[in-house]
Amino acid sequence: MSSKYWNEKTETLPRAELEEQQLKFLREEIKFAYENAPYYKRSFDAAGVKPDDIKTLADLAKFPFIDKKTQRDTQGVGSFLGELAAVPEEQVVFVSTSSGSTGVPTMSPFTQQDFDEWQDVESRWFWQAGMRPNDRYVHALNFSLYVGGPDVIGAQRLGALCIWGGTLPSERLIFILQTYKPTCIWTSPSYAWYLGETCKKNGVDPRKDLAINKIFVAGEMGGSIGATRKAIEDLWGAELFDFYGLSDIFGACAAQCEVHDGLHIAEDHILVETIDLQTGEVLRPGERGELVYTTLRKRARPMIRFRTGDIGWIDNTPCKCGRTHGRIHVDGRKDDMFIVSAVNVYPSDIEYVIRGLEEVTGEYTIRVYEKDFTCKYEVTVENSGKLPDDAVTRKVSDSLKARCGVKPANVIVLPDGSLERSTHKAKRIIDERKQSPGAV
Ligand SMILES: [Zn+2]
Repeated sequence: MSSKYWNEKTETLPRAELEEQQLKFLREEIKFAYENAPYYKRSFDAAGVKPDDIKTLADLAKFPFIDKKTQRDTQGVGSFLGELAAVPEEQVVFVSTSSGSTGVPTMSPFTQQDFDEWQDVESRWFWQAGMRPNDRYVHALNFSLYVGGPDVIGAQRLGALCIWGGTLPSERLIFILQTYKPTCIWTSPSYAWYLGETCKKNGVDPRKDLAINKIFVAGEMGGSIGATRKAIEDLWGAELFDFYGLSDIFGACAAQCEVHDGLHIAEDHILVETIDLQTGEVLRPGERGELVYTTLRKRARPMIRFRTGDIGWIDNTPCKCGRTHGRIHVDGRKDDMFIVSAVNVYPSDIEYVIRGLEEVTGEYTIRVYEKDFTCKYEVTVENSGKLPDDAVTRKVSDSLKARCGVKPANVIVLPDGSLERSTHKAKRIIDERKQSPGAV
């Protein structure tokens, strides 16, 4: 109870020892992947690299990358779990599934050991943010397929009283906040804002009438954006901690400590590299590039040099909190993805929809903007003359909802020929947000 660390030895391991441990784990993981996952055997052989080539951490740079496409291409090939999996199905106890907004949903499998180690990392993040066994915690994240759902178990292992809230309607959640008086909650930044405002509209002052003193957020950039964080903290009278997760690895792989300067990454489980977007060359700490993760202990599906599509940088300098694990700063997505109501929206999906509808000409622009700290998008299209404008609006809106998972806030229908035509590199996205695109 009195320690500020969940696992002091691990969290404060001197950097040299931490890297020594990483090297040992990395050698084991690469060997395990090569010997058990058909994809890695093939790709390492094709690249002319062998597990024994790993003599130092820097040797990882010789190994090929994987990305989302690799996951999709290998999923279901050879076996249900696909060619990246390194264990037989009977050893797998859990799978989470991505939203699939860019195509086939990707599945993330865990063995029992993977799952338990993941939850130990979650306990670490909760403890780091100050949660203790006498806290009451409401986990207000989606439980359906989503990798963030089981993270509540990390809080339960820590000893907190856990309320598995999931995605309750706001009125019921507010009722729980009033009657059970939880002290901690995890949700998205935009929902934290919306929920606080909804409380006030219903005559409940989050600062005075509720007991929330810690808010964990993930899924959007807001938690690391000073102005957004402060606004939510002021609204609730609580401290906000940004968490960062990837369905491909863990629910939360990194989290802010009390210093709130970057997010500590679980370096005993994940090796982070930043690479140059164009050349793929490894960058030095402090240099901005694409974040690439390698799992060090995951057995069900080792991820070796996974290109996340997230842009950011690593800070390995000592943190004031005393933890030695490096911190990541995530700036946004490589592509123009944006997040609306915790759903990842990809402009490529919008284009897919617009181009496929005969009621519109196929020309379009997307405006991404923020209102009340919530990301929204508006689509402008041209009527091809087959239906009246209001019918086109409905058609576009419904089709976007079906493909992207979330409707546009607005659809503007213009006559044919209104939008500027461009032969290449059309500027179709107008991003009016103050913050960078979302992180997870
Ligand atoms: Zn720290």
